[in-house]
Amino acid sequence: MKKPTRVNHPPAVELPPGNHPLVAPIYQTVKFEFDTVAETERYLRGERPGFFYSRASNPTTRQLEQLLAELQGREDCLVTASGVGAISQTLLSLTKQADHVICFVETYNPTRYLIRRLLGRFGVTHTMLSIEDVAGVERTLAAQPVRLLFFESPTNPITKIADIGALTRLARAAGALSVMDNTFAGFHQHGAYEVDIFVHSLTKYASGTGDVMGGAVIARSELIRGMRTDFGALGGTLDPHAAFLILRGLKTYFVRYQAQSASAARIAGLLAAHPAVERVHYPGLPAHPQHALAVGQMQDFGSIVSFDLKGGAAAGRRFADALELFALAASLGSTESLVVTPQMMGGRELSAEQQRMSAITEGTIRLSIGLEDPDDLLEDVARALAATGS
Ligand SMILES: *Cc1c(COP(=O)(O)O)cnc(C)c1O
Repeated sequence: MKKPTRVNHPPAVELPPGNHPLVAPIYQTVKFEFDTVAETERYLRGERPGFFYSRASNPTTRQLEQLLAELQGREDCLVTASGVGAISQTLLSLTKQADHVICFVETYNPTRYLIRRLLGRFGVTHTMLSIEDVAGVERTLAAQPVRLLFFESPTNPITKIADIGALTRLARAAGALSVMDNTFAGFHQHGAYEVDIFVHSLTKYASGTGDVMGGAVIARSELIRGMRTDFGALGGTLDPHAAFLILRGLKTYFVRYQAQSASAARIAGLLAAHPAVERVHYPGLPAHPQHALAVGQMQDFGSIVSFDLKGGAAAGRRFADALELFALAASLGSTESLVVTPQMMGGRELSAEQQRMSAITEGTIRLSIGLEDPDDLLEDVARALAATGS
């Protein structure tokens, strides 16, 4: 074998029987072969297991899918290149022309765009309500056949709590599929409810470090089987290296989620007692309007704390500029603390009535609490509140 040939066919190193790596290797390969054409044909006919092309399946992404399905308490999972990829492919593979979708004013901006603008172009109609309007959901389900009910809890950034039991019961009785974006609450929560399909951004709590993007759709096998072909054709596949990084991040998921929730609760308490603050939005606070519902549905309340400053947009700007430990950046659930101001939040396409329902004000600030020492974070927030001048 000449050397240009050899570099393309390097020596194979195989582990001897009974010898295993503690961390599974990354299958950083697009292609897999079988030894013969006959075996390849058997694979293509679905008569034998195996891997062939990484857009369809790969052992590293498959390991992540199986782990996430188990964490969320469902049978199967599909992972995608981003959270929005999981949402867009789910919406495209589950709807057809003339279907109707229920979504909410408090729904994540890009999801609202996908339902209103993208699905709208293909003749899928929608009703957009407030997540608090369970009676409106019931009325909408009674008025016409509904294909999907798409919701989140806690919502972004106001942390409103959806009544998951009521919503899923109504959807199921009406023959609609419930789809829950569970990114904020995480894989360890909400699994006991009759949610048909969970979607997640893996970019947030799963990796935890804010250095990799991914998404997941988690549901019973029958639903995932029906979606798998469309997902392969739409092509938003997660790369095996990204899947490896997310698997690594998940090892510390529980300790991170709990530590970040504990720090967030302390910061929510400090904000609630401060004269510059009009209102704090944190489901773990007894003063949260849906605290009882949150306690019934969740064990951990998450790392997102939002609040309204009495001083409005100008105070918000001063607060965010005065923070030293919080980065002025999008995203959440990572090890570093982040702040988002009203100037950075979307939702401008909502009507005045819908804006009011969303409860975002000129002075709404969203904090994502990281893994820094909580005393340092409290000190930073107190200093920045003093800098708002009220
Ligand atoms: C970030 C986020 C997404 C989108 O995830 P990406 O990985 O950024 O595409 C979807 N839903 C919620 C609730 C999010 O916070």
